[in-house]
Amino acid sequence: MNLIIEGGTVVTVSPRGIVKNGAVAIEDDKIVEVGKADTLKSKYRHYEKIDAKHKVVIPGLVNTHHHAAMSLLRGYADDLNLKTWLEERIWPVEKHMTSQDIYAGALLTAVESIMGGTTTINTMYYYTDEYNEARALAEVGMRGVVGHACFSWRKAQDKKDLDLFARTWHNKKSGLIRVSISPHAPYTVDPDYMKELRDFVHVLNEKYASPDAPVILHIHVAETADEPEKIRQAFNVAVLGGVVEYLDSLGVLSSDVVASHCVHLTKKDIDILRERRVKVAHNPVSNLKLASGVSPVPQLLRKGVTVSLGTDSSCSNNSSDMFEVMKIAALLHKGVSGDPTVLSAEQVLRMATINGAQALLWDKEIGSIETGKKADLAIVDFKKPHLTPVYNETSHLVYSAKNADVDTVIINGKIVIENREILTVDVDKVMRLVEKSRQSLLERADKSL
Ligand SMILES: [Zn+2]
Repeated sequence: MNLIIEGGTVVTVSPRGIVKNGAVAIEDDKIVEVGKADTLKSKYRHYEKIDAKHKVVIPGLVNTHHHAAMSLLRGYADDLNLKTWLEERIWPVEKHMTSQDIYAGALLTAVESIMGGTTTINTMYYYTDEYNEARALAEVGMRGVVGHACFSWRKAQDKKDLDLFARTWHNKKSGLIRVSISPHAPYTVDPDYMKELRDFVHVLNEKYASPDAPVILHIHVAETADEPEKIRQAFNVAVLGGVVEYLDSLGVLSSDVVASHCVHLTKKDIDILRERRVKVAHNPVSNLKLASGVSPVPQLLRKGVTVSLGTDSSCSNNSSDMFEVMKIAALLHKGVSGDPTVLSAEQVLRMATINGAQALLWDKEIGSIETGKKADLAIVDFKKPHLTPVYNETSHLVYSAKNADVDTVIINGKIVIENREILTVDVDKVMRLVEKSRQSLLERADKSL
């Protein structure tokens, strides 16, 4: 389909900056031109029009850390620390989740995400054939990197699942879906298995991927202060420096790694993240809710580490709202550092867009509004009291806008939300499916007690 979005302000998140009274022309899945509406209107006059008057066009947001299926457990267990929350509440019920449950939870996350302007998600859960997260994202028409979480206790099964998963889903559905290998964390994956999984990224890339669309590695790193001790207890290995230094000693870290959280870092850890060009997924809402601590994001940014933003799962957030994450990221680091100049609105918007695309090694195609890139866009309605008056669009996007202000969303050139209505799936049906899954999941979990 050929489209022209005209009359709005285009926040390109590229060297071109902000184009007032701008336009974006789209042919099939790509942006073919960005410029002034006056010029583009006549050039593309036969294209289907989207009127963006009083609206702001932004690159689709990129959420670099999620567990999409876990929306099914939203609000199931709150106000606990990570260890108790995971071991006593989440893991016991999770083991009863079926592939249908995973699919239902991921559908819900995908719907919620696109309604809030997020067009790409990096999720880590379990691959099951037929019904799974990849299928859910594809049905909703969302872009995503879908990971299979690996643990030491099920090595043999993991490898089989990973190969089938990459073969079936990597770079499929018009390139919307990519696959990652996701060693869960340094305290659940032993050192030898960690090295094996690192090597397996190369194996899967050779077999199923191209350099332009690689399989990447997604892992939780240094989320809580006791992580070195947890690694020692689990595998009887001494972690003398930081957790990043430990992972580097295993040869795990390189530019294709998304390290989620990175809360408890040593100075040396920060240097290693920069040297290895590891990408950080910062999850301020989840870190605050689980009281895990505060990641040294201003230092990471100063050192030149790519920091992107994630919500984390809807159990520890409890939503997929990237507008909220942007605002809290900006406020948190100002408050903690006592310096209101850190994490400016411009910087935070980059973290939620182009930095996220870089983290997923997808920035040649997404993360900004530029000619030749994929058409992944969100149109935000600024004709609202809380977005009036406008001095600086980026300031409003980070500090004043809500995800409910997103009016229209385009992914891969296809309109998936129009005037806040989702066009790809039936939202009521998705919510009914989730409710059904929730009931039968709890029944199965109760029976096993
Ligand atoms: Zn997580």
